Amino acid sequence: MGKILIIGAGGVGTVVAHKVAQNSDVFTEIMLASRTKSKCDAIAQAIGGNKIQTAKVDADDVEDLKRLFNSFKPELVINVALPYQDLTIMDACLACGVNYLDTANYEPKDEAKYEYGWQWAYQDRFKEAGLTAILGCGFDPGVTSVFTAYAAKHHFDEIHYLDIVDCNAGDHGKAFATNFNPEINIREVTQKGKYWENGEWIETEPHEIHKPLNYPNIGPKESYVIYHEELESLVKNFPTLKRARFWMTFGQEYLTHLRVIQNIGMARIDPVIYNGVEIVPIQFLKAVLPDPGELGENYTGETSIGCRIKGVKDGKERTYYVYNNCSHEAAYKETGAQGVSYTTGVPATIGAIMFMKGLWRKPGVYNVEEFNPDPFMEQLNKQGLPWHELFDIDLEM
Ligand code: NDP
Repeated sequence: MGKILIIGAGGVGTVVAHKVAQNSDVFTEIMLASRTKSKCDAIAQAIGGNKIQTAKVDADDVEDLKRLFNSFKPELVINVALPYQDLTIMDACLACGVNYLDTANYEPKDEAKYEYGWQWAYQDRFKEAGLTAILGCGFDPGVTSVFTAYAAKHHFDEIHYLDIVDCNAGDHGKAFATNFNPEINIREVTQKGKYWENGEWIETEPHEIHKPLNYPNIGPKESYVIYHEELESLVKNFPTLKRARFWMTFGQEYLTHLRVIQNIGMARIDPVIYNGVEIVPIQFLKAVLPDPGELGENYTGETSIGCRIKGVKDGKERTYYVYNNCSHEAAYKETGAQGVSYTTGVPATIGAIMFMKGLWRKPGVYNVEEFNPDPFMEQLNKQGLPWHELFDIDLEM
């Protein structure tokens, strides 16, 4: 149905390339481009069958992106590079008439700040150009937002309380490693906590609110309230929400490492001079930590991510829990990448399928919960991320 360009050849890019190649009825031509072409070539070779063309691109450079877009002429670009590249890729899309999809909101390199404002500002330009931009189409953000939209559409008249719960009960056997890009991951989990309550944002110290929550097939895991980007669009798109929070599990070992990294200044994002050369500590740290893309081989256990929702249906209070569990081993067997990359790359591919089939296509810039959740939910079951529902249970909240 259409030509697709994937930008970024990390863990998530690996999964997107595999899943896009599996859906050859939808994607007629596939190109994988990234900063390091050899990584694209290795992924294309692992998939085989000459299904994927590769290219080198510097996604920080709009002119370089335009050159690639004009030569390959994709209908849609899936951006699974880093959040720093969102705006340059959106600019190139506008210049060349290409539609856009990503999995993480824009972040400036010199400030750990997560907000959709920068990308929502492209709304009029995408609308006028007749182009669609789909924002935040990974698992969280992404599937969690679609889960919320599905719940609101089918199971509630009004949703009042939303708790997104993200558990990684996997074991990669390393003393310390992050499951996706270390720089982005450490910036995210070391920031202050924030949640929505009664029409305002409540800020907390990092990891201040925590308690054990029970995850299906896993059991109790200590879970911490952190700020996560989908809260911003969800409270805007579901104004009946009285409270919206995001919980993530962390092991004690992980938190201790994180504290040490912060205390010794290795999480700093401002440059320091070392031996006459400017280096950014967190970027240097990334260079010595395990590559998240290489964690898959010995990764055991599973992830469990879902939404716990309380609201009203037909005048009665009701609770609802919708979730997916994903096995790291099964993800690795299928794509050569671990579960966190898998749970991000599969939804990005499904979003692209929704676009190509014309199901999620409207000029402008949209978060995923603004589209019809039903065909996306159907594809989750078909593409490797089956979901389950529980009704009228104790949500532990
Ligand atoms: P990786 O660091 O493994 O991969 C990023 C890739 O982007 C690398 O191939 C890298 O190239 C490439 N890249 C970086 N800068 C540029 C540039 N200027 N030009 C071209 N290519 C570039 O990250 P992940 O695969 O783990 O994550 C990818 C994205 O997915 C991130 O934005 C992350 O925030 C998001 N994510 C979203 C989740 C969700 O659920 N919504 C969950 C997990 C991740 P090189 O190989 O040369 O370094």
